[in-house]
Amino acid sequence: MPFTGSCHCGLIAYEVAEDAPTEAMECNCSICRRRAALHHFTTPDKFELKTSRDDLLTYKWNKGNIAYRFCRQCGCSPFAEGQGPTGRWWRSTCAARRTSTSTA
Ligand SMILES: [Zn+2]
Repeated sequence: MPFTGSCHCGLIAYEVAEDAPTEAMECNCSICRRRAALHHFTTPDKFELKTSRDDLLTYKWNKGNIAYRFCRQCGCSPFAEGQGPTGRWWRSTCAARRTSTSTA
C-alpha cells in the first residue's frame, strides 16, 4: 500500500509506491543533525511528486550529491533527491505516517 508525505502547509506532497516504512535512518551528518531528520530511502520509479516542482527550493552542500527540497511557503523539507554510489536514489523525510510524540 503506497504511503504519502508532505510539507507542513501541504503545498508539497508525494506518494511512494511501497508499504510505509517501519524503520528510519537517523543520519548524523551536519545538516541532518540540525534538522533531526529521519530518512527512508527509495528509488525514483517508486516516488511520485503530486504537486508542482515550481514550489520547491533546493539546497545542496558538500559535493552537491544530495538536493534537499524545501517548500517555498513553509520551509519544510519533505524529501531529498540524490546520486548515490549505486545510482540515482530518492529519500523521503516527512512521511505522513511517521510516529511522533507531539501533536503540534
Ligand atoms: Zn509547505
